[in-house]
Amino acid sequence: MSAYGKPASFETPPEPIPEAQITRTLSADVAVVGEGLAGLCAALSARQAGAEVTIVTASARPVARGGSVFAAYSRIMAAHGMPRQNLDDFFLEEFAANSFQVDQRKWYALLDHSEEAMNWLADILEKEGLEVVLEDANEDDHHSPTWQPPGTHAFVGKGVTRAGTGMALAVAALEKTFLAVGGKVLHSTPAKYLEKRSGRVSAVVAQGPEGEYLRLKARKAIILATGDFSANREMMAKYCPQYAGEFTAAGDDYDVGFAVRGLYRGEGQQMALWAGAAWQRTWPCAVMIQGSRLGTSMPYGSHRGLRLNRRGERYCNEDMNGAYTAFTTLREPGGKAFAIWGANYARETVFRAHGGRRDGPDLTPEQVLAGWEDQAGKGQIVKGDTVEAVAEALGLPAAETLATVRRYNELCRAGKDTDFHKKPKYLQEIREAPFYGCSLSDRLFFTVLGGPRTNARMQVCDAEDEPIPGLWCVGSMVGDMYANCYNFRIPGQNYGACLTFGYLTGKRVMEN
Ligand SMILES: Cc1cc2nc3c(=O)[nH]c(=O)nc-3n(C[C@H](O)[C@H](O)[C@H](O)COP(=O)(O)OP(=O)(O)OC[C@H]3O[C@@H](n4cnc5c(N)ncnc54)[C@H](O)[C@@H]3O)c2cc1C
Repeated sequence: MSAYGKPASFETPPEPIPEAQITRTLSADVAVVGEGLAGLCAALSARQAGAEVTIVTASARPVARGGSVFAAYSRIMAAHGMPRQNLDDFFLEEFAANSFQVDQRKWYALLDHSEEAMNWLADILEKEGLEVVLEDANEDDHHSPTWQPPGTHAFVGKGVTRAGTGMALAVAALEKTFLAVGGKVLHSTPAKYLEKRSGRVSAVVAQGPEGEYLRLKARKAIILATGDFSANREMMAKYCPQYAGEFTAAGDDYDVGFAVRGLYRGEGQQMALWAGAAWQRTWPCAVMIQGSRLGTSMPYGSHRGLRLNRRGERYCNEDMNGAYTAFTTLREPGGKAFAIWGANYARETVFRAHGGRRDGPDLTPEQVLAGWEDQAGKGQIVKGDTVEAVAEALGLPAAETLATVRRYNELCRAGKDTDFHKKPKYLQEIREAPFYGCSLSDRLFFTVLGGPRTNARMQVCDAEDEPIPGLWCVGSMVGDMYANCYNFRIPGQNYGACLTFGYLTGKRVMEN
């Protein structure tokens, strides 16, 4: 229902395409709808389990963005000499951060099966000439909201060196492997709706590149893997109203890659609803957003020194990552926030690069200063000989800003933050020229997570939590996986879930 009690337009199923216009009928054991990481993992693992599999995808090629993929453990981590980690307490902290509104069964399934899934993927990618590496994580304090469990994997090779940017290589390798073992892919073929026979979801009707319609019958399962609904205004208004206005993309590019402000229109979610699925219980759906990384010292971080709002007031304990930064900044007047620091910050803080590898060195103070100089030259941050000059360049009120910096420096010298209780180790005075400053107001709106009610086996369920026979889903569209916000404490958790549940679901549909 819409906010006014009437069904939203996307809730009404479309009229079936007249039979005469459906010019082709194909069949397979398993039909996978969508060709991102989740769809590809499901398709390849089902194929390896002996199924005839066809992917029907609206995209002209496999779709990728970023490339950080979490697994709780792997042979890559073992090769680094890393012990298995116990994430039991951390998971409870995460459930609390999500107000206990997530489906714990899925989280523990990720914890317990991500190793097997990552080892499976690593074997495939290494055969295709890629290297699987570990991303750097911020592990300085387990009880800081910036702490990240190690286990974010990334793929490098063929010109990609930066960790967390290799997903396009991975999905290309997966598609190649899938085709080599007899899988089929129909590109540029958006699915329109699902058909049911005797209560079972039995076929998907899709439109091919020439406008023709086809019916793909699935003997065992249809696995939806169509990504998010961030570019559907009506769905956003209903399921994620708080951030609906931030996602402005049209959603008409099915190949959309590394883009912010909207991906897809939630067509898979709609098809599931029309086939009898209930919506997930968690409301609103969680958004994946990141705050500005300018002036940060840690992966997935934002500046952890002094932050001020546009009135020149300090407003928070700055010990938080980039996701939480985005949310706290949105609460300040005009959604604006700023950071100011001195050159001494480069020496007094340990700097690790975003996109760096686990075994890489810390950045030296000289590298950090050179980075700030470069950003100042490009106008991304400002630089001045005095704090007043930086405040002016940022458009902050001089007197209030100077008073706030003075107060912050007093707290740093005392080693005790009696205003916001930030840990002493994160208190660095703003002392040495040149001084730097930046706006923290830019936010990256990545995606929205969630969709039809889905059980921990990835079966799409009705309002009584009964699986709809024949219908499964994987990837970003899985219901009740995240709540509140995707907080980035487990970088690559979403792709980790795409991999793990894609891999498991492909095997399961054949066992079913
Ligand atoms: C800029 C950016 C960077 C990101 N980086 C990361 C990261 O590094 N790690 C991470 O964990 N997460 C990351 N994410 C989140 C990321 O989007 C998801 O994790 C991931 O892409 C979801 O994969 P998926 O397989 O569920 O869907 P997608 O990769 O979005 O794939 C959906 C597929 O379905 C197809 N499709 C859509 N509609 C239809 C239809 N009607 N019929 C048939 N096919 C259809 C699409 O064309 C596409 O092939 C990032 C997001 C953004 C925006």
